[in-house]
Amino acid sequence: MKNLRDLYLSEIEEELVNMGEKKYRAKQIFAWLYRGVDSFDEMTDLSKDLIQKLKENYEIKCLEVAKFQKSKDGTIKYLMELKDGNAVESVLMKYKYGNTACLSNQIGCKMGCNFCASAKIGFVRNLTPGEIISQILEIEKHSGEKISNIVFMGIGEPLDNYDNVMKAIRLINDPKGLNIGARHISISTCGLVPNIIRLADENMQCNLCISLHSSKDDVRSSMMPINNRYSIAEVMEACKEYIQKTNRRITFEYALVDGVNDSLADADHLAKLLRGMLCHVNLIPINKIKGGNYEKSSTEKILAFRDYLNDKGIVATVRRELGSDIDAACGQLVRSQK
Ligand code: SAH
Repeated sequence: MKNLRDLYLSEIEEELVNMGEKKYRAKQIFAWLYRGVDSFDEMTDLSKDLIQKLKENYEIKCLEVAKFQKSKDGTIKYLMELKDGNAVESVLMKYKYGNTACLSNQIGCKMGCNFCASAKIGFVRNLTPGEIISQILEIEKHSGEKISNIVFMGIGEPLDNYDNVMKAIRLINDPKGLNIGARHISISTCGLVPNIIRLADENMQCNLCISLHSSKDDVRSSMMPINNRYSIAEVMEACKEYIQKTNRRITFEYALVDGVNDSLADADHLAKLLRGMLCHVNLIPINKIKGGNYEKSSTEKILAFRDYLNDKGIVATVRRELGSDIDAACGQLVRSQK
């Protein structure tokens, strides 16, 4: 059965016309969907007949909160159970400037980064656009909070589920959908070069974040297998093309690991790599995962790394660690833990 949350308004219109219904009904249904309604019976401006027909042919609900945990800092981690019995995690973070939802886009991940818990669980399948969007709607319903920012930094590699993620973003953007502007949406990628270039041509104003973690190919390859496929030089070329086409600033994420990539010589090497680029560096104190052998850099080293970059004219900030007490921080999300 088709899920209506997987469809654009124009596609729902087409479905209704094919059913012999009036096209404008689609607008009513679409409005209900993005008000978070997930049963046809609640769509009170539709006739009983139409509701019956819709029930016979379509679904709405595709996931639900199976469990949640609240951190000392207010961050909430949700275990979202999908219809097929799989589960993913999503996180709500509260910042001064608004609430951010961190979304998963795949069940598991193929990329194999050796510091990330999501990589350890293997890959099952892509999430559909409806499953991606429903995470936002479920978080809003469950917490009573309005989401204003979205980060694709949960489980999965968004540029490896390109079409579904793009469709979800367009539905999130749609003024009649969730009406969250592209500038409030961040996509984080481990560096899938062809799709960075594809994204540059989408004419979409979202923020691109690149998980760099080292400016040296040997070190980066030891952390991230994808670096054997696309080298740092190739990623940088793609980023330059992205900046040139979109005029958008890129964020480079850099997780600091004690003794691996956190020396001032590393900072200097990174500054040289990024010199002159329209970018920002987001330093992440690495979070330890089960079975992982990387240790977090000391606060002094993290601040020295940041200051070094700033002195060289590269804007760098340290990401706040939210939710680490409930394993909701970067790299700690897993597929299922009911
Ligand atoms: N697949 C996407 C999204 C991953 S999660 C990507 O690779 O970018 C978002 C960020 O958290 C990425 O920069 C990722 O490299 C980082 N991350 C993963 N594991 C981490 C860990 N254990 N500690 C700190 N950051 C981590």
